[in-house]
Amino acid sequence: MKFDNRLVLFNLRLFDSERGRLLHDRSVLVEGERIEAVEKGLAAQESGAFTPVDLGGLTLMPGLIDTHVHITMPFMHEMTPRAFFAVGRQIERNARACIEAGITTVRDTGGFPGRLSSLISAIDSNDIPGPRIIRCNSCITAPGGCPDWVPLFPRFIKAFLGGQYAERVGSPEEAARQTGEMIRQGAQWIKVYCQHRSWLLGGGDLPVLDPGTFRAVMDTARGSGRKVCCHISRLEDLEYAMSMGVDTFEHNPLDEIADHAAVEFAARGMAINPTLACLDAGSDELWQTVESVLDERGPSILEPEPLRQVRRYIRTYRTDPYPPPKSAYRKKPCFDLALIARGFPHALANVGRVLHAGGRIGIGTDSGGLPSALFGVFYAEELKRLRLAGLTPAQVLMLATSGNASILGMDDRIGTIRPGRIADMIAVEGNPLEDLGAVSKVRMVMKSGRFLKGAPGAKHFRIVSKWLRGRNSR
Ligand SMILES: [Zn+2]
Repeated sequence: MKFDNRLVLFNLRLFDSERGRLLHDRSVLVEGERIEAVEKGLAAQESGAFTPVDLGGLTLMPGLIDTHVHITMPFMHEMTPRAFFAVGRQIERNARACIEAGITTVRDTGGFPGRLSSLISAIDSNDIPGPRIIRCNSCITAPGGCPDWVPLFPRFIKAFLGGQYAERVGSPEEAARQTGEMIRQGAQWIKVYCQHRSWLLGGGDLPVLDPGTFRAVMDTARGSGRKVCCHISRLEDLEYAMSMGVDTFEHNPLDEIADHAAVEFAARGMAINPTLACLDAGSDELWQTVESVLDERGPSILEPEPLRQVRRYIRTYRTDPYPPPKSAYRKKPCFDLALIARGFPHALANVGRVLHAGGRIGIGTDSGGLPSALFGVFYAEELKRLRLAGLTPAQVLMLATSGNASILGMDDRIGTIRPGRIADMIAVEGNPLEDLGAVSKVRMVMKSGRFLKGAPGAKHFRIVSKWLRGRNSR
């Protein structure tokens, strides 16, 4: 959507996401939805045609990118009647939470196609604030396969939700048909599951797509120019999916990525989104963070029913005796947190192994994938854990912006602040290269040249945003 605006952002430090450094004394000119120029000095004084926006010394960086969310999936376990009617409102809150946290692009790695379509059109027509969404629509998996914690919804619930979370396919023909259907409904990526062993208590071995069926998904996706992302959990999953030629791996083996696999992975230009915060789900630190966020602002980020469900989820894993008796987890799926916790140190070390071999790492949060994976909260948690894996703040921020843009094949449009790129930019308080915590202090968010969140310190911001709103509504 084209619109008129000419802005010059000044009095800022600029994060150069290609070289991982801060540039001082720069001004950024925005025209319409694009970045027009990045200039040295105070371009504001020379650019009469551009309305000045004083950023008050904040650090300006490209909008954050999250390569793994489930924006339409607020309730993985319990589709109660109350949850059912809160779905639409919660989805809007998820979108808003991304913007509040400075996340301007997400790849949705599995959700309800109908809900995704309506969310995307509401965001595109500026009815609600939300990120740019790259969509996979429903995931493709084997009958009885992972995600074994997500039910197959009966027809009327499916119609209400706008599809299934995961479509089960048992033959190459079915695989080609479902993959084609996802593409027809707007999927830009295809998501497949490939997990041979369950994460659930009492889950055991799981079926995965056989080679012919997996190949049919790949061929159909490739035939329409789509890339494929693949959920994995162990080295055997990664090796199998790698032999099929997928583009990105979601999550990260809970055992060690063997050297030969890391080398092949790197040589083939594949990328992995390690979702460390999601795999650290058993840690006390993470539980405390989630609980304190719920205490502080639970009702503002979650509808009443999801809030109740998230609290109950925390009780199940944190307060009640764990593991629960067999009779309880037979009735309701329950994650084997001890299994995941034992694998976490390997998952952390795998990040170093992949980077050492020259492979690509992405930043994905799995927000919405677990009840505790709150939108806008897990991003900072993921960054923290990448630091634990040995990355510097500059490396982490490059992955969050230019690195993720390249994994999504969008580095010609987003992820850097350069002339011609889409004006997705955020301003944060402090120096994120000294303290990554600065990335949580988001004071301004611009997406496609529009302010979606203000900058209280910036002198002209309120006037400019009012002026913009006036112009946009014409
Ligand atoms: Zn996920």
